[in-house]
Amino acid sequence: MTSGLRDELAELVAVRGLSLLDAWLGPVETKLEILAVLAAGRNLLLEGPVGSGKTLLGESIAAALPPIRLAGCHFNCLPGEAACPQCRAGLVASGELELSGTARFVRVQGSPDLFPEDLVGDVDPAAALAHGALDPRAFRPGRLVRAHRKLCFVDEVNRLSERLQNLFLELLAERALTIGGYEARFPVDTVVVATMNPDEYVGVGRLSEALRDRFERVRLDYPTPADEVSILLTRTALPADAGDDTRHLAEAVVEFANQLRAEPEVEAGPSVRATMASFELALAWLRLDGVTDWRQAAVAGLRVAMRGRLSLRPTHRLASRPEDFVEDALAGLSW
Ligand SMILES: [Zn+2]
Repeated sequence: MTSGLRDELAELVAVRGLSLLDAWLGPVETKLEILAVLAAGRNLLLEGPVGSGKTLLGESIAAALPPIRLAGCHFNCLPGEAACPQCRAGLVASGELELSGTARFVRVQGSPDLFPEDLVGDVDPAAALAHGALDPRAFRPGRLVRAHRKLCFVDEVNRLSERLQNLFLELLAERALTIGGYEARFPVDTVVVATMNPDEYVGVGRLSEALRDRFERVRLDYPTPADEVSILLTRTALPADAGDDTRHLAEAVVEFANQLRAEPEVEAGPSVRATMASFELALAWLRLDGVTDWRQAAVAGLRVAMRGRLSLRPTHRLASRPEDFVEDALAGLSW
């Protein structure tokens, strides 16, 4: 079987290099690891805390894929290919369509409540009554079948049931899925980008060893404080008179973000994008009439940017609202 998507990704890495991952603000070494995995045609497991940009990475890789023309069936045949029962029976009503890279992205949210039917597909009862259960018109393909020629993003893969992990194993090992009843195997040319939170190795759900063996694991971390400060200072439109105060402001914002990330009550700590928003707001604050103190501007920027982004662990949600939590943390600052 040809592996079109793998070739497309390898080509993307060759042409775009590091710029392919520009949207993600993280260390170059990590970017190189990700690019190597993609160029080698392997599946990627991104391991990192909430807010480390896993979804952003998956989406931006897919978005960079070239557009593709498809026959318009549910199995993503190429025009004229007629590889699926729908096309062969002449049942494709909608006609050819072109998908952008952004649309070549299928997302699966890992959850123990997900069933094989959701991923492989099932029989539409009304259509089965009208045409018979084995008629191709009665089959409703699931998300994995529809991931043919697309990137398949599996969020929190470790939360999938053992049965579904085995289904992914079949997909990754054979690049095809068997669809019961039709005695047919359908090619699914996909690359899987899966994610997992590092604190979930214990409890919640485990990734089976067999499936783990199919992924190359790349660890995403928040940047070091020094790197994050330089991200703020180089990726933001700084005022013409930027000086020591601007640097103090960036350092204060990063320090506070790291303080929040370390709080045991915090479930999703601020992302680098959140510290950047805080910094930009604080700079804007400094330009307002009557504001001269960078500390006051930092507090204002952090308050606005963080209160809407923070999420607390379920055990702490009743005791405190995120905005109050942020307010208390700001009140405790000793700059
Ligand atoms: Zn088809």
